Amino acid sequence: MDLMDSADDRDYLRVYLDDLKRTHANDSGYLEYYKDLKRAWNIIDSDDSDFEATQSFGDAPNSQALNSSKENGSHVTGRGPHPISSSSSSSSSQPTKQIPYWKKIADTSFAVDAFNFDPSPEITYYFLSHFHYDHYIGLSSKFNGTIITSMITGKLVIDQIGIKPSQVIMVTNRSPIVVDGIQVILIDAQHCPGSVMFLFILPDERRILHTGDFRASPEMETDPFLIERPIDQIYLDTTYCHPAYNFPSQMDTIQITIDLTLKHLSDDPKLLIVCGTYNIGKEKVFKSLANGLSMNLWVNSTKLKVLKIINDPIINENLVDDKDQAQIHVLPLSDINHQFLKGYLKGCCNRFSSILAFKPCGWEDCGTAESIVPSVENNVYIYGIPYSEHSSYSELERFIKFFKPRMITSTVTHTNPDRRVSMFKSLAQWKSSYQNTSNSS
Ligand SMILES: [Zn+2]
Repeated sequence: MDLMDSADDRDYLRVYLDDLKRTHANDSGYLEYYKDLKRAWNIIDSDDSDFEATQSFGDAPNSQALNSSKENGSHVTGRGPHPISSSSSSSSSQPTKQIPYWKKIADTSFAVDAFNFDPSPEITYYFLSHFHYDHYIGLSSKFNGTIITSMITGKLVIDQIGIKPSQVIMVTNRSPIVVDGIQVILIDAQHCPGSVMFLFILPDERRILHTGDFRASPEMETDPFLIERPIDQIYLDTTYCHPAYNFPSQMDTIQITIDLTLKHLSDDPKLLIVCGTYNIGKEKVFKSLANGLSMNLWVNSTKLKVLKIINDPIINENLVDDKDQAQIHVLPLSDINHQFLKGYLKGCCNRFSSILAFKPCGWEDCGTAESIVPSVENNVYIYGIPYSEHSSYSELERFIKFFKPRMITSTVTHTNPDRRVSMFKSLAQWKSSYQNTSNSS
């Protein structure tokens, strides 16, 4: 099986492999992944006597970490480089449960978002970037390590998972702490409430940034912590690292949502506005609608518990307990469909005569900003809106070319081979653009 389009593709992949070898060679788990990637890409070196290029391979080590992410779209089915096309990973097989290299911070004893693995004596602290299931998967009240995370995520793991408060170090964003001699700074990742990037400054002054899940923004280019000195290595959220993923900024999408709502309200003032949401995530959509249109918000009791922890003043100001007093209802994303909403409208007993529902999503299912059209049945209008909490392709490119890291470790990959090759190609091309510049200057 050869997934390469051309010799050029192979070169791009080799750049990634060489970086991988240089950066993660001290990690005991790294070599297996390295070999798997080389096998998958049919890249053979003269010193590769320890494995056969033609060998067929099953699931990569740690394949349990490669199951589809609850949060992400259909193209993203795993975290970390995975050499195999869409083999649904085997919950039935017995995978090695060693923490993979892309979840360990090089030359430290820290792991990030790594709870679904065997306890490792070499790990002293477990960092959690945010409270999405695919990042805390494996975490239960039986966990006996120490978690370092943001204030909001810390409260959520205590409240919703039952972790003892004594096991959680909650850190205020932008307040440096020192852990095992390493300085750690938490910076807002612009993903969901409580999501952070971790900036690690090692004793030899190397600077390593783990983005968690993030939406890159131009403001990050003026962040004093990020620009103080060059960043050596970035563990990068590459969820949408493909040129197909270009979608509007969050602010543009929110403006579109407000404009659509005003248009529908002028046709029918007895309009119920429904926003789909995750357990945590996409809050900015209903927050901006409630704030921009001065409307009350109602959420169910599960979401209310989470919102109490998030404690956002603007959301709090608009929240009401009585659903009849609110023109915006926040429902689970799974309820945003015609069958459910038709019944929901009936249950409102003539207080409302139509429903305008928004289903925020982050990938191409939503189309572009220009092509947003509703799906309509009876008096229910459902709009998919391209509201992403991950970076678009162009935002990733701008971020990487601005910070110019010497090493990029992808933390997400695609099972689709074309998409996967395209991702490594983009990373290698971006790197070569600034490496050539710095070499010539
Ligand atoms: Zn996430």
